[in-house]
Amino acid sequence: MAAKVLLKNDHIEGIRYYDTYRKHGGYEAAEKALKMAQADIVEEVKKSGLRGRGGAGFPTGMKWSFLAKPDGVPRHLVCNADESEPGTFKDRYLMEFHPHILIEGLLISSFALGSNATYIYIRGEYAWIVNILEEAIDEAKKAGWLGKNIQGTGFDCEIYVHRGAGAYICGEETALIESLEGKRGNPRMKPPFPAIQGLWMRPTVVNNVETLAAVVPIINMGGEEYAKIGVGRSTGSKLLSVCGNVNKPGVYEIDMTISVEEFIYSDEYCGGIPNGKRLKACIPGGSSVPIVPANLLFKTAKGETRYMNYESLSDGGFATGTMMGSGGFIVLDEDQCIVRHTMTLARFYNHESCGQCSPCREGTGWMYKILKNIEGGKGKMSDIGLLWDIQRRIEGNTICPLGDAAAWPVAAAIRHFRDEFEWHVNNPEESQRRNYGLAHY
Ligand code: NAD
Ligand code: SF4
Repeated sequence: MAAKVLLKNDHIEGIRYYDTYRKHGGYEAAEKALKMAQADIVEEVKKSGLRGRGGAGFPTGMKWSFLAKPDGVPRHLVCNADESEPGTFKDRYLMEFHPHILIEGLLISSFALGSNATYIYIRGEYAWIVNILEEAIDEAKKAGWLGKNIQGTGFDCEIYVHRGAGAYICGEETALIESLEGKRGNPRMKPPFPAIQGLWMRPTVVNNVETLAAVVPIINMGGEEYAKIGVGRSTGSKLLSVCGNVNKPGVYEIDMTISVEEFIYSDEYCGGIPNGKRLKACIPGGSSVPIVPANLLFKTAKGETRYMNYESLSDGGFATGTMMGSGGFIVLDEDQCIVRHTMTLARFYNHESCGQCSPCREGTGWMYKILKNIEGGKGKMSDIGLLWDIQRRIEGNTICPLGDAAAWPVAAAIRHFRDEFEWHVNNPEESQRRNYGLAHY
């Protein structure tokens, strides 16, 4: 079902501005939260069952309760707005058109966690959104929601917007922290997790934009009511950014009870595949999650309907399922070449690897070169096995999840579409002829 939670005021002109946002119930959750005990806000978030919307789906209330509170050491909240996962643009939508729900969520969360200096780390390419956020922060400050002694509570909080410089890896929370500290964005080993040692080695919570915005409806309706939206451990609403071969690309809010089939074919959402083409495959959670062929997309391995939620999408593990990930929903029709698609992703991960760990630094390059050869009609049958072997040696052997994210798409493509790889090897001339755009790579 369509959900109207984060985007419930999407139709209201000027909702981007403070006065309009306030007139339509904005900052009522903040008013309520500032009268609550900090621990009670954390409890509401726990009760809501909210899971991190950046991709990992880690329970937000649990993450908040891990935050260390050593005496005299400042704590920080950092909003991860470095949305760079290919296919993912839902945070962009929230920040561009609903900046105040994020600012309000940040204020409530900062109060709950005791962060007096809170940061929004935004991807460099979202330059125009920096102005939108800073304008919203100025408006909120003028209205007394930020700065010193907020609404007479004695609580001080400033929000700073920090623009990244275009590296995908800075979306990984510890690389983001390094970058925020002014260093090269290299991921750190975990543990220690940021909740213990984060920004400037102080206890830090890093949450995604959508996660922090969701704190507003949670406080407004109460954690238990929020948890009633959705199903099982997939509570609340979820934003999805849709792209690829669909009639209606865009950003949608769902309540996670809708089936994958309905999501793709109903006019309320993707509106089906253009030109009557057949569906070939889908990547439902951004480029880092495994691709699923059409025959496994609508039904789980047990023959049950597959739904758009964390549990159902991952049912069957990677053999037949995938992940909810960041909600970047990419649809491929029958004309798309899986080998070419996989090669493009491999090139991306190779380019974005920070180079700290050998399996990722070297392996992503090897995978890209082998895929480029196969796609261009210069591959050997043994290359497919070699590719499989390389991805296996990357997965689980690196400092940060970029290694896994590079390995999984290759593994899933070979697992489900081996015949396409073999076709390229067996048809070198046709592969070269179809290889119209290789020069761009
Ligand atoms: P993760 O599973 O390592 O961690 C999830 C969160 O929980 C982190 O904040 C971590 O600090 C915290 N955590 C986990 N265990 C903890 C513990 N014991 N104590 C305290 N805190 C703990 O995953 P991740 O690296 O945060 O995210 C990986 C995901 O990011 C991938 O699944 C991918 O989908 C997604 N991703 C999203 C984008 C995007 O643009 N939105 C870009 C790249 C990747
Ligand atoms: Fe860097 Fe890749 Fe290692 Fe992550 S997995 S730390 S991106 S080399």
